[in-house]
Parts: sequence; structure tokens; C-alpha cells
Amino acid sequence: MKKTRFGKTELQVSKIAFGGIPIMRLTKNDAAILVRESIDLGINFIDTAHVYTDSEEKIGQAIKGVRREDIVIASKSPADDKKTFLEHVDLSLKRLGTGYIDIYQFHGISTQSKKDAVFAANGAMEGMEEAVKSGKIRFPAFSSHSIPIAVELMKTNKFASVQLPFNYIDCAAADIAIPLAKELDIGFIAMKPMGGGLLDDAHLAIRYLLSFDGIVPDPGFEKIEEIKEIINIAEKDETFTQNDKDEIEKQRKEFGPSWCHRCDYCQPCPQGIGISSALCVKSAFKRMTKERAHSFVGPSIEKAKTCTQCRTCVSRCPYNLDIPSLLKEQIKVYEAMPK
Ligand code: SF4
Ligand code: SF4
Repeated sequence: MKKTRFGKTELQVSKIAFGGIPIMRLTKNDAAILVRESIDLGINFIDTAHVYTDSEEKIGQAIKGVRREDIVIASKSPADDKKTFLEHVDLSLKRLGTGYIDIYQFHGISTQSKKDAVFAANGAMEGMEEAVKSGKIRFPAFSSHSIPIAVELMKTNKFASVQLPFNYIDCAAADIAIPLAKELDIGFIAMKPMGGGLLDDAHLAIRYLLSFDGIVPDPGFEKIEEIKEIINIAEKDETFTQNDKDEIEKQRKEFGPSWCHRCDYCQPCPQGIGISSALCVKSAFKRMTKERAHSFVGPSIEKAKTCTQCRTCVSRCPYNLDIPSLLKEQIKVYEAMPK
């Protein structure tokens, strides 16, 4: 598969990365086979995280016997403080079975308080600098769900890679964050390239992302057919046309301003409500088979009926969604759907 230069890291990475979330649902053996097949198909960029349960370990199994310099590994730590961050780095190295990680990201710096904690004395940034000095990490990086915070972080000139949600519906990064990453020569990983499972037109989604020079989409894979489909689309290098733009405009209007970006920053809900799943009833029924849509949103809608209106979630939502009211609406929408 064709490679692209990943910003100032000068790493040559496949135009599509392997997102390490869905392999959490596979057995160790199936996950290792899938990762290995992806590498054989030309994907050399694998992104995982400390918090994706056994994802790092499964990737570690899969890359045994692969020349380390032939793959680029990215992982993440959610730690705020130096000590925990360094513990996470060591654990990531152990689970991945490697002596170094190419790109290590602060996982989800999306609020000012998180950013302040990371940059405080004895904060995780000091741990990052130490891990780079000792050779355990090659390039410091971060992921975020907040464009203003990501812009601030990029301007510190301390990071070689940024990861933000970016797809043809969640496209705010295209205005400032992506041009800035390009200007500062920072690698850009597009998180949730398929809208967290809600954009089912892979052809449109991948071609949209690849129309931005140097962006690396990071879809999660569970089946080899999915990988082959995405690689096939990426390899064709088709032009992004006016018809594609019109189709995207149409879909953006359908999603509307109350579109939940599925970032899960509103969690944890004290009632255990799967808010992001409960908020996508209409989209799920429009884009999935009836059976799949029921199993995708049904359990969360049942839970949503227990919402106490405490509004803890509202203060955490970076998109200022009125979650309790939207849940009420979605319950009604779900109940009107064909059984
Ligand atoms: S308002 Fe409802 S959904 Fe939000 S945190 Fe409270 S119980 Fe959970
Ligand atoms: S409700 Fe807000 S915080 Fe929760 S997943 Fe949706 S966009 Fe994210």
C-alpha cells in the first residue's frame, strides 16, 4: 500500500492506519491473525492505547517476528502525572514487546484542566520528556476532542503528531487544525473516520479524508474484508468530485446541529446510560438494517429511560448538547421505529 510522509517525524506510514479498538472484541488468536494480515497487506501504522484493555498485548503478539523498523507503532496514556505516565510507558513497551514506541500520545487532552495537569510540575509532560530522552519514545504526540485545545497544544511546538476526530460529518478540524498541522509539519491522524460506525459509505468517507494531503485515517478493523475494502478504496486514488461534495452536504443537513460526535466525554453517567449510542437512533435506523439498528441502540435506549436529569453529562459535553432533552426525544423516536 502507498506510503505517505508523516510530518516532521519523517516516518513513511501507510495511507491508512490500523485502529486498535475493535480487536478488543476478538480472541487473542483472531486479533493476532488480523493484525498480521493487515501488515502483510501493506498497513505499517498501528495505533492503540493503554486503556484499550488487551489491544496492546494482542498487537504485541501479532508483531512478533516482524522487523521492528518495518512498522510504526502509536499508543497513548491517559495519565496526568509523571509517575503514572512513566509506568504506562513501561507497561505499553512490555505489552507490545518492543524496546521503543514511535508515537506516544497523551490520550484525550480535551479540557483546559487536563492540559494544565499534564503541563504542571511533575505532570505527564515531564514524563514524556524523560521517556524521549531515554529512547523509550521517539515522538511526543497527543489526541484530543477539542479543536481549540489541540490548536494551543500544536502551537507549543512540543508535538510531532496530533489525533482529532475527523470525518465528512465531524469536519470542523478542516478549518484551522488541519491547516495548522500542515504549517507546523505535525502528523495528523483522523480519529473516527467512519463517524464511530455511523457512516456506512466507506468509499465516500475514505476518499473525503484522503483529499486532505498527509492525513492518515485510523479506522478500527474487526474483519479482513473490511481492511481489504478500505485499502482498495485508498489505492484507487480517485478524484473527489462535485457529486461527492453534494452528497456530503446532503448528509450533513440530515445529521443536523444536535449531532452527537460519539466522543464519550459525557461519561461516566451515574445511571450507566450509553449516551452516545442512545443519541443516534435516527441515524442508526437510516444507515443500518433494522435488526442491527435495534441491537446497536436498543439496550442504550432502555437504559436512557432511567435518566434522572442530573445533568452531570451536560457540563462535560464539548458540543454543549442538552443531553437529557435529546435522550427524551430519542426514546420517542425509537418507540416509533418498526419492531
Ligand atoms: S442527565 Fe441523565 S444521562 Fe446525563 S449523567 Fe445524568 S442520568 Fe446520565
Ligand atoms: S453527548 Fe456530547 S460528550 Fe457525549 S458523546 Fe455526544 S458529543 Fe460527546
